[in-house]
Amino acid sequence: MTLSESRPNRRAYLDYNATSPLRREALDAIRPLLVEGLDTHFGNPSSIHWAGQAARRVLEDARGTVAGFFGRKASEIIFTSGATEANNLALTGVTHHPRDANRRLVVSAVEHPSVLAVADRLAGLGVDVVRVPVDHNGAIALDVLEQALKTPTTLVSVAHVNNETGIISPIDAVIRLAHEHGALVHVDAVQSVGRIVPPLAADLISISAHKLGGLKGAGALIARSDIPLLAQNLGGPQERTHRAGTENVVGAVSLAAALTASERARESERERLTPLRDRLEATLVAQAQSPGDVEIIGAGAPRVFNTCTLVFKHIEGDTLLQALDLEGVAASSGSACSSGSLEPSHVLLAMQVPASQALGAIRFSLGWATSSEDIEHLLDVFPRVYARAKRAPGTRT
Ligand code: PMP
Repeated sequence: MTLSESRPNRRAYLDYNATSPLRREALDAIRPLLVEGLDTHFGNPSSIHWAGQAARRVLEDARGTVAGFFGRKASEIIFTSGATEANNLALTGVTHHPRDANRRLVVSAVEHPSVLAVADRLAGLGVDVVRVPVDHNGAIALDVLEQALKTPTTLVSVAHVNNETGIISPIDAVIRLAHEHGALVHVDAVQSVGRIVPPLAADLISISAHKLGGLKGAGALIARSDIPLLAQNLGGPQERTHRAGTENVVGAVSLAAALTASERARESERERLTPLRDRLEATLVAQAQSPGDVEIIGAGAPRVFNTCTLVFKHIEGDTLLQALDLEGVAASSGSACSSGSLEPSHVLLAMQVPASQALGAIRFSLGWATSSEDIEHLLDVFPRVYARAKRAPGTRT
């Protein structure tokens, strides 16, 4: 029996916070470059000849689209290989610039690893790094932030929406406090774009194409042009010397198209997906054997419409995940970026979820192609999956 024969016919992809399938609009935007434009748009955008200039034009169109979306100048868009690189560039580039006298960085405890790992590296390199805690609803402690800002600070970096829980940060208050204290603000907006109004007042914003229905390996850092930013990729003068390396033209075009499509569909997707997410959540909670066996993370917090993170008290999230996969349901235990390791999620620990329970986390995240049939499939198989996972060795009592 081959692997595909052992797979169920019905599948449901409920892992949009990890990545999204390519949107039709993004495919339509890149196809002319890859098919009809195969002989005309392959040039290096830095070349002055016709081939280079054809590529340059589509790259600059994409840049203009992204800039327009955030109300910025085209020169304020730095295309990157994704949000990980954008986050690295923002944090290191700002706190390591020779013009920065403060060398102080404030982050929240629930940031993505592409922020926290950089913060740790910077701390080792002499930057004064402060990690601000969150409350049990995942919101950054604004009083602690305000206290931290009393010491002159270079940069505050806070994600707009948490990738593991879908919880929305009080970003306006964070930006206001930081600006009142003369600090710059970087917002990782990877999980908020296309779901809520973007954090336009931030000084630096990271976005990623593949979370929006664009290609993997493409993203951008939107950075105000007056911010001193030390390039991390050195070499050619691309991206106004902020990021050396031949540009990923197709990726940038996919980003612009996916961003436009996500924004256009934001309200209709909210209306369509909110009841599906709510039904999923309510049914799974009701299907657990006894009250208290399962908890909705962030139930009392503002959350985006597509994410549902549950903590099962007696089951390991990874066991559940594997049992779901056997039924064709793709989800994630905590963060996809850390799946494969059985470390409890740092996000849930920071929200004071006990470590033993945090191991029982599972995240369902919906997106543009999620149908009610996908949710029905999950709800159909879940009692069986839950019973199987409860009997598995990792079961905790
Ligand atoms: N920040 C957040 C909040 C994310 O969810 C992700 C993707 N897991 C990233 C950054 C990294 O994005 P990319 O995959 O484009 O490097």
